[in-house]
Amino acid sequence: MVKKIIVVDPEIGFRKLISSSLEGRGHNVIQLNNTLECERDFLENPDVKTDLLIMGLPLPGGSGEVFRWIESLRHKGNNVPIIYVAENKDELEEARTRLAQLDISMFSAKPVIPFIFGAQIECQFSEDANGGATSADLQKQKLKDFEAMFLALVSKYARVLPEKLSDIKKTLDKAKENLSDTAALDDIKSQSHKIKGTGGSLGFAKVAEHMAFIELRAQEIVLLEMEARQKAIGEIEERLKVALEEGKTETEEVLAALHSLNQEVGIDARPQAMARIMIIDADKDFLKIVEALGQESLVEIISASNQKEALANAAVYPLDAALISLSSSMSESGFEIAKQLRSLPEYDNLPLAFVSDEGLVKDRVEAAHAGASLYLDKPFKSDSLEKAVQHLVAIRQGGRARVLITDDDEFFANTIGVVLRNEGIIVKTLNDPSKILETMQEFPPDLLLLDVMMPGITGFEVCRMLRQTPRWGDLPIIFLTGQTGVEARLEAFRSGGDDYLPKPVVNEELLTRVKVRLDRSRMLKERSDKDTITGLLLRRAFSEQLNAILAESERINQPFSLCLLDVDHFKKVNDTYGHLAGDKVLAGFGQLLLRRFRVDDLRGRWGGEEFVLAFRRERKEVIHKAIERVLEEFREIEFTGDEGQIFHCSFSGGLVTFPEDGSTIFELLQKADQRLYVAKKAGRNRIIFQSNDNDLEEDLEKLSAH
Ligand code: GH3
Ligand code: MG
Ligand code: MG
Repeated sequence: MVKKIIVVDPEIGFRKLISSSLEGRGHNVIQLNNTLECERDFLENPDVKTDLLIMGLPLPGGSGEVFRWIESLRHKGNNVPIIYVAENKDELEEARTRLAQLDISMFSAKPVIPFIFGAQIECQFSEDANGGATSADLQKQKLKDFEAMFLALVSKYARVLPEKLSDIKKTLDKAKENLSDTAALDDIKSQSHKIKGTGGSLGFAKVAEHMAFIELRAQEIVLLEMEARQKAIGEIEERLKVALEEGKTETEEVLAALHSLNQEVGIDARPQAMARIMIIDADKDFLKIVEALGQESLVEIISASNQKEALANAAVYPLDAALISLSSSMSESGFEIAKQLRSLPEYDNLPLAFVSDEGLVKDRVEAAHAGASLYLDKPFKSDSLEKAVQHLVAIRQGGRARVLITDDDEFFANTIGVVLRNEGIIVKTLNDPSKILETMQEFPPDLLLLDVMMPGITGFEVCRMLRQTPRWGDLPIIFLTGQTGVEARLEAFRSGGDDYLPKPVVNEELLTRVKVRLDRSRMLKERSDKDTITGLLLRRAFSEQLNAILAESERINQPFSLCLLDVDHFKKVNDTYGHLAGDKVLAGFGQLLLRRFRVDDLRGRWGGEEFVLAFRRERKEVIHKAIERVLEEFREIEFTGDEGQIFHCSFSGGLVTFPEDGSTIFELLQKADQRLYVAKKAGRNRIIFQSNDNDLEEDLEKLSAH
């Protein structure tokens, strides 16, 4: 929802900072100088509803005047939510008691970190939109988790910033010794360039501004006569001195702001989790054990003890997988919870595992039917959880977008990484651009974020090179750069880039652009791999992936199963109920196959009314039961003919397992096809997974005699 937000502060720098962050989130922001303007132009005009008022200080007259103004506003019955930003922490402390009386939604002190401030504001909106306490609380928790990670990064940067600045000083001394040392000047340029981009993105606005000046000066200097160079170096030196001074205070300010936030947020320097998994179990002790195991293996565990909690969590945190208990102490059935989870937006492919303390065969079949990738028996040990998690994550990540961030500045790359990971994107950062090809081999990205100024090679050059490599010809590439100006922009597109984002980066803008690109390229790929009627893989894509399954099974010495399905009497369906009705049957069958079975199972349309399924690591005896369940469901579906007649359908199947039924795809398909034929002969509406070889031979003889 677009909100109308008014920012009142005479300090233009502050207004701009806040506005750009909020506008990046799609809101409509109006900047005003003082309360008078605010009252005259907006609050008095009832046609324009204001959603939020952000009031910064100093306003003429100081805080007393602001408080009186807010008071009279409330007096007039205006209940617009207000956020108050004090000039500094001390002022905020002083004002606290007074603020508490004024019905203020949130207060904060300068300097604010725009990105976090924006997220906090978003939180305000989501609270009043949902009303429901649980989801607002969770939203807050998520924001806090994110703040914690982000702030840890900022404070780390604040600690190294003075050193980075004094490095420039050293280079500058070298340049002063020898005014024709262009290498030293180049170094100054790139050092200041980096701090400008990263420092600016992390909230060190003043330092960033000085760095912009120094970068520009260092760039121009080579064009100057020797005498003028002397003078320019002097200017840089002066500016650097100021930067060092102001850097110190700015760092202190940021650290102090962080410190106060810290106490609220509770930063711990925990390393980034490799995955986020939800555990659903009514047994609190068990949840604790799993949480502890999770910490050991770098997995973030989100726990829930019933369906309601599970669904609320899933709506807030991007999950990689869910582990659901089948224990009888649960108030809802684990299978039902699984079904509900999978029906949430973006979770239709959520990898699932079930945990059971009873180990019933019936549960195993039901679990396979519900789409579980794993079935674990309780109690389980640390390494079985870890293996399970790795397995589930690998499945999930198959379907998640992967972004490679290439930037020689480790801090910058990590910052962007935090932002993207928080949205459920898999991120890898690379600081040495010369290793890009090998990195992309191991980590094939769906999108590349590329810095421009890097040692040895520019991002433009990297982009050109990638565009000439067939494999990466279509890869979406977005430049991230502190270089501004038309020339750089043009060069970005000339070298084959898709988009361009200036540093310092507004995180919301980054996210939006990355997501748009990812969605578009994924859509194109889906379009070429999937059948439009059923939503299943087309034969070519299926065959490719089937070959990969065979290779994997050979390598890990595990079985897999393959099943050919064919709709019964489909010709008659077409003839009796119409071709359109026939298409509906195919679509319905495709949908059913998609919703059942595990995420990492393959489902394809082999052609016409024939379908094919492949199941990793499973033997046909288990799969057989799961497919029979699907057959039962399929028979229950009511289809409507072109003239409104109601009818039902069934299918037949031939099922085989590698390696016992064949060691090549060809052999396996051939045998599956023979069994399908046997199933048809035997009266249809069944799955055959064993050969009674005599019968089969007899059948085949009869067939060839015809
Ligand atoms: P059986 O039980 O032995 O499989 O009999 P059947 O009638 O299903 O088998 P057959 O292979 O003789 O007929 C398949 C029919 O499926 C023929 C074809 O017109 C129809 N068909 C193939 N593709 C489509 C499609 O995309 N849409 C529709 N409506 N019909 C299709
Ligand atoms: Mg058929
Ligand atoms: Mg057929």
